[in-house]
Amino acid sequence: MALHGFLEFFQREKTFRPKKRFNQGTIRYSLHKQANASLQSGINLKEVVRLPAGENMNDWLAVHVVDFFNRINLIYGTISENCDETTCPTMSGGQKYEYLWADGETYKKPVKLPAPRYIELLMDWVENQINNESLFPVSSDVPFPKTFPTLCKKILTRLFRVFVHVYIHHFDRIFSIGAEAHVNTCYKHFYYFVMEFELMSAKELEPLAVMTAQMCKD
Ligand SMILES: [Zn+2]
Repeated sequence: MALHGFLEFFQREKTFRPKKRFNQGTIRYSLHKQANASLQSGINLKEVVRLPAGENMNDWLAVHVVDFFNRINLIYGTISENCDETTCPTMSGGQKYEYLWADGETYKKPVKLPAPRYIELLMDWVENQINNESLFPVSSDVPFPKTFPTLCKKILTRLFRVFVHVYIHHFDRIFSIGAEAHVNTCYKHFYYFVMEFELMSAKELEPLAVMTAQMCKD
């Protein structure tokens, strides 16, 4: 029931970005389907993140980065009307952490921003990376850039901050719409994925370390 309510909630929501999709018939499309099927069959998340034998690591990374972007985007969408400049004047993760935004272009020096603005810029930035075909090639004939793993680490590190904000500041809302199991599953999947391939530093994971230790015991 909870998931059903959650999906209905999504369908009412108008502010979602169009979902980034994989082209049917490509390796990435089948990997994406395969990864989703494993998730739905309830297999251990720690195992489903492992690179399947014979598959290319960059393809595996690309599929996960895009899927996490889509899922985190939906999660933030469910609480976005409760996240404004008054409720969340800073992009904080509790009292100990505050993120400053810099993209090296418009924002050369790190700036303090209200959380909704920070997250908007963050999601725009990720969306631009994954829609840039020279960074995320759509065809398997086009090679990934050499910097691809580094870029994915940066994207995942930034996406993680949305989890930090949602968990620390908006979990009551997630709970009230019955979406906590869904969000927790997404978080665990994300966490096991970044741990499997060492894609984030312990320092960046720190704001949710206590929760993670309880949630991801095995
Ligand atoms: Zn907020």
